[in-house]
Amino acid sequence: MDYRIPEDFIEEVRRQADIVEIISEHVVLKRTGKNFQGLCPFHSEKTPSFNVNPERQMFYCFGCQIGGNIFSFLMKKQNMTFLEAVRAVAERTGIPFPEKELSPQEREHEQKRNRFKDIHEWAARYFSDVLLNRPEGRRGLEYLQGRNIDLETIKVFRLGYAPDKWDGLLKEMATKGVAAEELVEFGLAIQKVNQKDGVVSFYDRFRGRIIYTILDIRSSPIAFGGRVLDDSLPKYLNSPETSFFHKGGNLYGIHFAHRGIREVGYSLLLEGYMDTIAVRQAGFSNVVASLGTALTKKQARILKRYAKKVIIGYDSDSAGIEATLRAGEILLEEGLKVEVLTLEDVKDPDEFLKKHSSEELRKRLENAITFIEFKYKNLVQNNPPRTIPDKAELIRGLAPDILKTPSPAEREGYERYLSLELGLTLEAVQREISILDKHSRKNKYNQQNFLKKQDISVKKRNTIEGTEFDYPLDSFVPLGVFRAEQIILRLVLENPLLKAKVRENLEDNFWRIKEHQYIFQNYSEKNYNYYDTDDFAYEEIQKRLAQIYELDIDTSKAEMLLMDCISSIQNTKNKENIEDLQARMIKLEKLGDMAGALAVLQEIGERLKRGEK
Ligand SMILES: [Zn+2]
Repeated sequence: MDYRIPEDFIEEVRRQADIVEIISEHVVLKRTGKNFQGLCPFHSEKTPSFNVNPERQMFYCFGCQIGGNIFSFLMKKQNMTFLEAVRAVAERTGIPFPEKELSPQEREHEQKRNRFKDIHEWAARYFSDVLLNRPEGRRGLEYLQGRNIDLETIKVFRLGYAPDKWDGLLKEMATKGVAAEELVEFGLAIQKVNQKDGVVSFYDRFRGRIIYTILDIRSSPIAFGGRVLDDSLPKYLNSPETSFFHKGGNLYGIHFAHRGIREVGYSLLLEGYMDTIAVRQAGFSNVVASLGTALTKKQARILKRYAKKVIIGYDSDSAGIEATLRAGEILLEEGLKVEVLTLEDVKDPDEFLKKHSSEELRKRLENAITFIEFKYKNLVQNNPPRTIPDKAELIRGLAPDILKTPSPAEREGYERYLSLELGLTLEAVQREISILDKHSRKNKYNQQNFLKKQDISVKKRNTIEGTEFDYPLDSFVPLGVFRAEQIILRLVLENPLLKAKVRENLEDNFWRIKEHQYIFQNYSEKNYNYYDTDDFAYEEIQKRLAQIYELDIDTSKAEMLLMDCISSIQNTKNKENIEDLQARMIKLEKLGDMAGALAVLQEIGERLKRGEK
């Protein structure tokens, strides 16, 4: 949207930049042949698996499969936007940055965004000043001290207090030239119209409440949550959604937690503000909360950027259990590893820390159970299975979650667990689960066939062997097809003339991985910077590109290899029956990909017309 930098400028910056030099500022790199190697800055490791390829100007980690170009490196490492990353690299390389040409609407939007940021910053300072320095904030400070919150924590979270007045913030902001209407627009004040005389008046949204400042990843205030000190209702009040703040797209605590999550290797997802604050103060730097809403897909994707594992530590009451079950499923859908923290006899981690040491909490975290186990225990508690059919039904209830697990080893672990718990043979459990895995038999056949063929040219580390392999998201994409897509792209990027062959033989929408389709449609060898999407998507695309370039394939028989891949995709497609397509459509729908779901629906319609089943 506000990216109007010319494509050739971006390409110029990328070409002139020295990726080795820039990455060296963050990672100690050693030369190994043509490449450079070091310890990965995105996951913790003792032997280097992080590689920088100066020729291609790309980086790739064999440990966590993160990769990309210099821009996506800075976006990930420094939490920059694409635009900021381009600007930073341009400055270093001494290439003057072209002045942005904005349309009048864009300029207005930009100005409003800046105003939003300024006003939230001023408001945060005001609430904090009231809490720490003014008499009307004393009640708030006493409350926080009563809950053992120390000054450092108050500052890290920018906690504040809204005095019990109708116009505290309104007056303060007026001195800075902020109009009441602006505060209304950004959700900080409320407008009232008198029914009789039509006179308009304004009052503060937050009154007599502890203020939790919601900070974005760059520590800028973007919203507030307020909690009363007594029993009045509502207990919590949050900034409303505005064009610059979306609850479901942010996480409380992410401003410091993004570093902690990377260091520790997992996120600790909690339910409320106070939990997050108390647990952070107890020495855990990887805690976030989901802002009083059910966890969203977007929030799951934010967490996934920093680590592949999440431990859920929601309340232990029935609402908390429900929320855990929902959140767990969303996290699994996103391909994350999910565990659950179980604390008996306390309501939440905050209460736990009042009774026990932080060391004790650390132990509990080490002993967190897998999400499948949690769900199993919950099902058994509500409905203890007595007969064999009961047990079978229980297994079928868990099968969809187990099938989401991308790692075969992990999946078998769950199957073994169930067989022990239920006193059934492993085989019986596996058979029960595979009934629901409609794709298993066919796909296994295809995968094996395809991999056998490719084994000669594709090195071992890129096959199914590496269970940590960043193999997508949804188990509906067979590994063989995934690999075939990657090889096609690699061949096409090396020789763009081959694109025609792909178009001749496969329909445009054959791609199962949306980043792959994007790369095919937009990239050629010369230009792998193409940007017309959002920052998250850009990073994902760059990562896929780095993976594609890391494939060790023999390109001397490019055309033959390409045709092999094409026929492998065709075969899988032909074997897919209508039932499979319906399942895929439902899956896409669930993932929110309506366009994809519609395309599949169309295909179902066409096949039915042709009399297929
Ligand atoms: Zn790594």
